[in-house]
Amino acid sequence: MSTEKTPALVIRQADFSNTSRVVTFMTREFGKVACVAKGAKRLKSPFDAALDLLTHCGIVFIHKTSGALDILTEASFVHRFKPYAGELNCLYAGYYIAELLDSLTEPHDPHYRLFDESVPLLTRLEETPNWRRVVLRFELLILEETGQLPSFDACALCGRLLEDSPPAATVFIRSGFICPTCLPDATAEDGVSRPVSAGTAHILRVFSEDSNTWQDLPVTSAQAKEVRALMNLLIAQTLGKRPRMHGYLRD
Ligand SMILES: [Zn+2]
Repeated sequence: MSTEKTPALVIRQADFSNTSRVVTFMTREFGKVACVAKGAKRLKSPFDAALDLLTHCGIVFIHKTSGALDILTEASFVHRFKPYAGELNCLYAGYYIAELLDSLTEPHDPHYRLFDESVPLLTRLEETPNWRRVVLRFELLILEETGQLPSFDACALCGRLLEDSPPAATVFIRSGFICPTCLPDATAEDGVSRPVSAGTAHILRVFSEDSNTWQDLPVTSAQAKEVRALMNLLIAQTLGKRPRMHGYLRD
């Protein structure tokens, strides 16, 4: 048993008893942590508003090594998520980020970069209505951080570098793009295939780069549609199911 302190984001809440909740945090130092928050349902909760979904807070918890739930002892409010007014998708995009943080990461497996970049991405959902850009950047970030990002630079089967243009004729979702030479060798085990244009391939590369170029990259509405269909498939294949929030995020 040890007492730990860390910055955290609230990513899930569930009732535990008449007065307590189980709160799942994405913490900076310890990754995903599920804690019992005793008294969190009382009117005068010891944790105040620090446990609302997507609130950025500082927490202190007792880590139980026995596999039991950790115990939350302190939660101090840093910032409450306030999605861009007038664009409901910014709220849903925030919920989607919480859903992916919860479902794609393992307990007590820290991802510092994932935490450090998730916080400003949530801030962008407060400041601009352009949720699509934030969602795509986040999806590619979490896939990379959890070792599940396909290569967008090289053929997934032969490893040959793909040029931006002409594009690979087809993308195989599980493993990435496939060069035209390898296309006949791909099997059903490589996943669902989907045609992808050169523009979309370029967008995926830029949005998964470790730079800020993605923020200003021009994206047409046709490209945005193609990217979305492809990413929905990729995320669903990675998770083994369709995320709940895919049903809410719509144009
Ligand atoms: Zn190839």
